Amino acid sequence: MSDRKPIVGGNWKMNTNRAESAELARGVVDGLRDVTNVDVAVFPPYPYLLAVRAILRERSSSLRLGAQDVYHKPDGAYTGEVSTEMLRDCGVEIVLCGHSERRHVLGESDAVVNLKLRAIVDSGMEAVLCVGETLDERIAGHTDPVIQRQVRAGLADVTGDHVSSVTIAYEPVWAIGTGKTATPDDAQSVHANIRRLIAGMYGQDTAERMRIMYGGSVKPSNAAELFKAPDVDGGLIGGASLKVGEFVPIVRAAMAAARGQV
Ligand code: PEP
Repeated sequence: MSDRKPIVGGNWKMNTNRAESAELARGVVDGLRDVTNVDVAVFPPYPYLLAVRAILRERSSSLRLGAQDVYHKPDGAYTGEVSTEMLRDCGVEIVLCGHSERRHVLGESDAVVNLKLRAIVDSGMEAVLCVGETLDERIAGHTDPVIQRQVRAGLADVTGDHVSSVTIAYEPVWAIGTGKTATPDDAQSVHANIRRLIAGMYGQDTAERMRIMYGGSVKPSNAAELFKAPDVDGGLIGGASLKVGEFVPIVRAAMAAARGQV
């Protein structure tokens, strides 16, 4: 890992109920009190954002509140959708966009992902742009062009000033929720390519500062090896973020990697 501050996010997806989300938030906050050299964010379902925010505040936690998605329009007749201002009003600081489940289950295109990303950074929040190839794309040898297309399209019309509010999450679709993980070498190779692409688009300094997280079946048993890779700046965690006993050790692995202890 480099001198970029790692970031680890817990994407709770459509899981937990009100009591469980509160218990999980308390457990994560209490388990990570001493962690200062890693940015940690939790992404609860919308209905529990305010309850989780209250827990973070009452415990003076530095954990950041995230949202799993947003709609790009500011307001109006968009039944079921949520705007950036609504999220900000709930204390959200960071928002996922282009998660593979949004792309592949809910049919979001690169163009929609770009609209959302621009709405997020225009509103002053940070965006996590998720990209990743499917198994068929990987087998066909198309990983790099797919990732390049998703990064370029996701960042279309995003200025150099605003791109500093973007983190990229490389999440191979075949590794999400499947128990299969990219090897540290595979992850490193894709992350390095993304960084080269960002350097070509925004310059070397911006590329050096950009954090690129890995996501896809990260567990306490594989986190240290993945986070040791020089271009892997932390992780976006799904299943394992629902258990305090798994999420906390994963964050600690990022902390150790940042200190060069692994
Ligand atoms: C995710 O949803 O972003 C994810 C990486 O899930 P999992 O860790 O369960 O593979």
